[in-house]
Amino acid sequence: MSKHKKNNKKEQPASVSTWSKSKKKRMRAKKVKESCSSASGSKTETKRPAKPQSTQLDFDKKVRNKSSLMKKFKARLWGSRFRLLNEELYTTSSTEAFEKFSKQPKLFEEYHQGFRHQVKQWPVNPVHLVVNSVKKMANAGKKPLVVADFGCGDAELAKTLHQVKQNRKCPFKVHSFDLVAACDLVTACDMSKVPLQPGSVHVAVFCLSLMGTNMADFVCEAHRVLQIGGCLKIVEVKSRFDSDLDDFLKTLSQLGFDLLHKDEKNKMFLQLELRKTSRKPQKDVSFTAKPCIYKRR
Ligand code: SAH
Repeated sequence: MSKHKKNNKKEQPASVSTWSKSKKKRMRAKKVKESCSSASGSKTETKRPAKPQSTQLDFDKKVRNKSSLMKKFKARLWGSRFRLLNEELYTTSSTEAFEKFSKQPKLFEEYHQGFRHQVKQWPVNPVHLVVNSVKKMANAGKKPLVVADFGCGDAELAKTLHQVKQNRKCPFKVHSFDLVAACDLVTACDMSKVPLQPGSVHVAVFCLSLMGTNMADFVCEAHRVLQIGGCLKIVEVKSRFDSDLDDFLKTLSQLGFDLLHKDEKNKMFLQLELRKTSRKPQKDVSFTAKPCIYKRR
């Protein structure tokens, strides 16, 4: 038993105690090294890929921030170019505007980029108000209703009305005029002189286009091309006529139009429907409504 115990005593520590001191040292050093390397190994596994990952994320974020900043900056620039051109169109004569835009059609594109952006902010596109009311005037089976769109912009009115079909035919023929032709549907001209025959039009439209210091000339031109009894449709931003709507209606009467319908239901836009009478427009009538100034956003 004692022998056994003795053997046991001897055997147990034998595995350790029989090692030399230097071997113990080496083993301890090895253990430390192993634990260090495994620890550092796990660190490398998790941290090394993490480092470039976070750098990439930071980089992506920076690029995104920079491009959204550039976008904001560009939008601001477009916005201020648009507001400037808009103000110019309201404060110069149509002859000057036509000359300027004909020489630099790029300005027209700049203006319309801003205008399109502006339209998107509104609860309703005013052209759609015109579309709805003109659609109701279509004569089924008869000759097409001839519409003249003064200051048509992108010719949205023509594009929409030309898609309407009645008995497989389009009941509308739309002539679109603007300072620059944005597409084939548009005739470039100063709308105080449009290339249409007198009395050849059933409906004349001004949708946000009564700009220029010689607004009365545009209305006179509409009077010339409309047939007697023809309809003059005006859609404008309400704030342009804050206190002088009556003056405006009086001017339109002096220019040979009778008011048929005044629609102020829409929060932003005023809609007028007038009838061409046989009265000749009075000469030297002038009228300028307030310019429509678009806010900086
Ligand atoms: N009616 C369109 C565009 C309105 S913006 C719409 O509602 O979407 C006003 C438009 O009137 C601009 O395209 C501008 O170029 C045009 N315009 C202003 N003065 C003009 C003139 N003298 N002759 C032709 N177009 C004119």
